Amino acid sequence: MKNFGLDIWADDNFVIENGTININYASKPSLLQLTKEIRTKGHKGPILLRFPHLIKKQISTLFDTFEKAKKEINYKGDFHAVFPLKVNQFPNFLHALMDVSKEYNYGLEAGSKAELIIAMTKTPLGAPITINGFKDKEMISLCFIAAKMGHNITITIEGLGELETIIEVNENFNKGMKNPIAPKIGVRIRLHSSGIGVWAKSGGYSSKFGLTSTELLEAYEMLCEHDLLRQFWMIHFHIGSQMSDIVPLKKALREAGNIYADLKKRGADDLTAINIGGGLAVEYSQHSSNVDRNYSLDEFANDVVYLMQEIATRKGVEEPDIFTESGRFIAASHSVLIAPVLELFSQEYHEKSLRLKEENPPLVQELYELYHALERKNAREYLHDALDHMESLLTLFDLGYIDLEDRSNTEILVNLIIKKSIFLLKSEDSDELSRLQSRIQERYLVNFSTFQSLPDFWGLAQSFPIVPLDKLDTKPTNPATIWDITCDSDGEIGFNRDLPLYLHDIDVNKEEYFLAFFLTGAYQEVLGMQHNLFTHPTEAVINFDAEGNYSIDDLFDAENLMRVLDDLHYDTNELDKILKQRIQNATTLSEEEKRELLGKLYLYLSENSYLKTIQYQNENG
Ligand SMILES: *Cc1c(COP(=O)(O)O)cnc(C)c1O
Repeated sequence: MKNFGLDIWADDNFVIENGTININYASKPSLLQLTKEIRTKGHKGPILLRFPHLIKKQISTLFDTFEKAKKEINYKGDFHAVFPLKVNQFPNFLHALMDVSKEYNYGLEAGSKAELIIAMTKTPLGAPITINGFKDKEMISLCFIAAKMGHNITITIEGLGELETIIEVNENFNKGMKNPIAPKIGVRIRLHSSGIGVWAKSGGYSSKFGLTSTELLEAYEMLCEHDLLRQFWMIHFHIGSQMSDIVPLKKALREAGNIYADLKKRGADDLTAINIGGGLAVEYSQHSSNVDRNYSLDEFANDVVYLMQEIATRKGVEEPDIFTESGRFIAASHSVLIAPVLELFSQEYHEKSLRLKEENPPLVQELYELYHALERKNAREYLHDALDHMESLLTLFDLGYIDLEDRSNTEILVNLIIKKSIFLLKSEDSDELSRLQSRIQERYLVNFSTFQSLPDFWGLAQSFPIVPLDKLDTKPTNPATIWDITCDSDGEIGFNRDLPLYLHDIDVNKEEYFLAFFLTGAYQEVLGMQHNLFTHPTEAVINFDAEGNYSIDDLFDAENLMRVLDDLHYDTNELDKILKQRIQNATTLSEEEKRELLGKLYLYLSENSYLKTIQYQNENG
């Protein structure tokens, strides 16, 4: 992996210059500079940075690519897009999204009542709103209210029962009205072709959602019968997220296109749109041997318009408007999680930790000499000797011939020899070396929670690009395993020899070292869980002005301890009272000590759960 795989996953959004990773935009500030600035304002622990310019880039790329594809074949339908709220509903994200997408008449997709309220309030009138997922009478009524407000809203029917409810609610809202207003209606179809990958369940016959052809015909008749055919204007499908292969999409497009044409010929005159759902994949990989998708956005857009045109021409119907609901593609790149490294666990393997005796076992003595005589030309040979000695020494320990101090000296010396050899031989990429490296993996304790900030790593083994914020002009040599600060053994991103991550060997007592986790903007924040009560991290929005200067805006600190407990419905007044009483009633304390302890206690209660940097005791007091 060269440059942490930037050329694979970063899409030119970030660039390594002068040893740091920088935003490849405007004044090109480094992530390190932004992080330090936020930390001087007193925010410790992990920080989530959002970049609205990257949201804008994704939206304009999506629209521009489809416009280009349409133009090439003179496609007559329009292109529209909505953002599926389930991918990220955080206000700092959503406000930026709505702000940068104004010129595109971009809308929102909602799958629950709470999301619908966001859509009803944040979408400009006229921009499309689509409603998917299971709906009850109340939710459908909310859609009628939205339509009466003037929203351009489409309810996607996922089953016949929903259509019955729409008919009933329509009676309630519009019976006898001179000017009946109802939401537009879309129908989700159940594809016989299914998606691929972990999310395949969203499409296909066994899918939770969509109407079979039999149900579709029935729905058509119900719409005619209840005078709602004029509302029916969209066919919808969604084949699943993070589509790695383009083939299932093409199959789904053919299927949906033919359904569209058939219904039009049957008399669905107002049917003019096909909604192809989401699923556009994001490249998360740092290794060219393991990429996530086999197509580009250009290919994706060309396939969609080409297949739709082909079917429409063949069947003699007008070319449909095309809607997409891509979420991951729009949101993933906009945020970066930055977390400080607190500790390197093999730092105990230091020469100064040796406990050599006046008289050492001969093999220990020899290890010591090998270590000091190690040079590039003898490194391989001495390394082999050292590994051999270690085996013998461990056997001697098991048989009771050497003591714990001798064994500790052995471990330290062999570790030092391996490290030094790897350093001396780093220009040779031999298999043996990489095997040895995985043996001396360094474990980095990092101040964040994988459960909160990378839940798809935990749930789906999804990898995210990891890059240190500085030292990028030096080749990192430590094979790295990352530990988060939850006390759960699943909170570990283990070293993988096939997809290795190397980090720098640093002394956290002397300098700070931060890791950035990229492409965390889709799904991670909303799926994140408060395992061990670690909350959503401190967040900030980085905006650039017309001159290219950045500003750090909307800085929200992670919730403090009492807020977290309050969210779980603990009576925090009661907790507060108990804490106070227990200090007041402690007979061993003087009044002054009590005052001091209370002062400290309240300071801690006002802070969040993440660790204050362990190493910088002085700075943090
Ligand atoms: C989740 C979902 C999307 C978004 O999928 P992405 O893979 O994030 O693009 C779009 N449409 C529907 C119906 C969904 O359920």
